[in-house]
Amino acid sequence: MSKSIDHIGIAVESIDKARRFYEALGLEVTAIEEVPQEGVRVALIPAGASRIELLEATSADSPIAKFLQRRGEGLHHLCFATDDLGSDDRTLRREGAVLLREQPTRGAEGCWVQFVHPKSAAGVLIELSERPREPTGEPT
Ligand code: ZN
Repeated sequence: MSKSIDHIGIAVESIDKARRFYEALGLEVTAIEEVPQEGVRVALIPAGASRIELLEATSADSPIAKFLQRRGEGLHHLCFATDDLGSDDRTLRREGAVLLREQPTRGAEGCWVQFVHPKSAAGVLIELSERPREPTGEPT
């Protein structure tokens, strides 16, 4: 099954500051959402069929805070949309990929998400995201 790039995640020190560049390009922040379980605030900026996701840390032990300390601002992850995250999770494990979570968890917009370690994907952190079918739906 074909997959498209849902969004490109960029770690930033400040959404308020970073968004100005994208707005100057004529793009628009359409949503800002806090994901407390991840310790991040995200701003979504549609760009064609895909989106830019600016990620700002909301706590010192958030993965984004650690990323910023280590690497500074920059490309953080690529996210592919999938319509069967459970199947991708099983297939990737079978192929020996290192997944960051025991099982998919809830991310921004109520999506189910899983992450693939950069060492399994040519040095890039990969997010897989499945839109919820219903508010309390479990991943397949
Ligand atoms: Zn993301």
